[in-house]
Amino acid sequence: MKQLADGVWQLAGFPPNAINVFLLDAVLIDASTRCSARKILKELEGRPLSAHALTHAHPDHQGASHAVCERFGVPFWVGEQDAEAAENPKLIGERQPDHFMAQLFAKTMTGPGHHVDRRLHEGDDVASFKVIDVPGHSAGHVAFWRESDGVLVLGDVLNSADVYTLIPGLRTPKDYFTPDPAENRRSARKLALLEPKLVLFGHGPPVTDTKKFVDFVNGLPD
Ligand SMILES: [Zn+2]
Repeated sequence: MKQLADGVWQLAGFPPNAINVFLLDAVLIDASTRCSARKILKELEGRPLSAHALTHAHPDHQGASHAVCERFGVPFWVGEQDAEAAENPKLIGERQPDHFMAQLFAKTMTGPGHHVDRRLHEGDDVASFKVIDVPGHSAGHVAFWRESDGVLVLGDVLNSADVYTLIPGLRTPKDYFTPDPAENRRSARKLALLEPKLVLFGHGPPVTDTKKFVDFVNGLPD
């Protein structure tokens, strides 16, 4: 586990930065695919954990959620519009665009559903962060923002590497994993207004160049 900022850690992924899982204080953010459950549980062993939250209920983010919540007896927190899919993963595939890659990911990565104890809304506190609603890549996608030091965890609103080749570089998530790309770009613009100093992505390495981040978002089509 690698510390990235005060109270912010990134779990070791394999390959590194491919599918990211973070610890914000004692709240686990995202849980990779169902195949990662054993590795995540092992890495969390002996650490204080108070809750598990999702940026969004997609197969590569909720895969080990049930295992984490069961093992550590912690509550599960998900954005209001994604809560139903987090509880009933059949909906995850149904809400993805009708594209074979999206359906393949849904089949091979999705983990079991788990009861959502708290539905997250804009302005809610999660650890030392505030929830921001950023729909588009999923209806209930949320980001986590800490104004005091400019740390932003934005899930899949943007990727900082190609999800297949892992070649670094800012990009929007693939349209066939994104039910509403235009709404997702609006969400990206909302986040760029924050001018974050450290941006943490669901896929790809951290970005610390605020100008590069803001310029990329401002260059996106409407
Ligand atoms: Zn993802």
